[in-house]
Amino acid sequence: SKTPITLLGLGDMGTALARAWLTAGHPLTVWNRTPERAEPLAGEGARAVATPAEAVASATGPVVLCLLDDASVGEVMDGTDLNGRDVVNLTTNTPAQAQQRARWAEERGARFLDGGIMAVPSMIGRPETGGYIFYSGDHALFERHREALAAPAGVKFVGKDPGHAALHDIALLSAMTGMFAGITHAFALVGPEKDLDQTRFATLLAEWIGAMSGAAHGIAAQLESGNYTEGVTSNLAMMTAANDTLLATAQDQSVDPRLLTPYMELMRHRVAQGHGDEGLAGTVGLLSSE
Ligand code: NDP
Repeated sequence: SKTPITLLGLGDMGTALARAWLTAGHPLTVWNRTPERAEPLAGEGARAVATPAEAVASATGPVVLCLLDDASVGEVMDGTDLNGRDVVNLTTNTPAQAQQRARWAEERGARFLDGGIMAVPSMIGRPETGGYIFYSGDHALFERHREALAAPAGVKFVGKDPGHAALHDIALLSAMTGMFAGITHAFALVGPEKDLDQTRFATLLAEWIGAMSGAAHGIAAQLESGNYTEGVTSNLAMMTAANDTLLATAQDQSVDPRLLTPYMELMRHRVAQGHGDEGLAGTVGLLSSE
């Protein structure tokens, strides 16, 4: 028989998780602050309970939290008896909040796993979309419930430090933010050209970003070896010169370069330190204050 799941939080994401567990045949107990959101799920076989305390008290499998933010986790779990429970927190948080929650759970006699969801609700329960969830914290808890946790989305355990799931989640989202900035600038450049097909350009843009994404492996190899010049084909001196062409073109097209200039300044700074022969790994350390 399948592991029973207790789920607190039935927003867009919580509801998608609930459906995936029901579809996979897991007995499911749900609670939501606004009880109406539990009604459709009750019709699909979930057991809806009136309070978080009742949900936690009756849990025989993992207690999964999918609430808005860390503050709402505190509010909801205040007054529940977590002693002996397996808590799986899928609420988006910072690494520090996740570590604090792990201590909080431990103090209450619970085991704790933190998660970071790399998917939108429509990807949940659909493995072909490639969505997955990062987990970190209690590894034994993860292994014990691995099959149940894998029902809504793929699973990736990234370390015993409970903050590491959030760290991975936020690092990927941060990289995505930079990518969106680049895409925004690119469309601003080509946008005013009325004879330029945006759809066709988008295909070229997506292909190029995909091809360039492999640079992450080169940077990792350099960071691990500590040698930032080995195997460099495009060094910072060359890229800094090319940046002037990028900026001149932005000016010609009347496009504000503000999304590009902070990174270009970082590269220029590294070159000015005498490291023009390095690859991008040389700029990473400039961002750390330690
Ligand atoms: P929603 O805004 O749809 O739902 C928020 C949920 O939190 C609701 O169940 C809401 O209850 C509950 N809630 C908020 N504040 C409180 C509170 N003070 N006390 C009790 N319950 C509270 O968000 P999602 O479901 O989309 O997101 C849930 C988590 O999943 C978030 O941490 C989000 O970052 C994460 N996530 C979401 C993704 C997405 O694309 N949606 C992607 C990846 C992660 P009520 O119904 O009563 O308002």
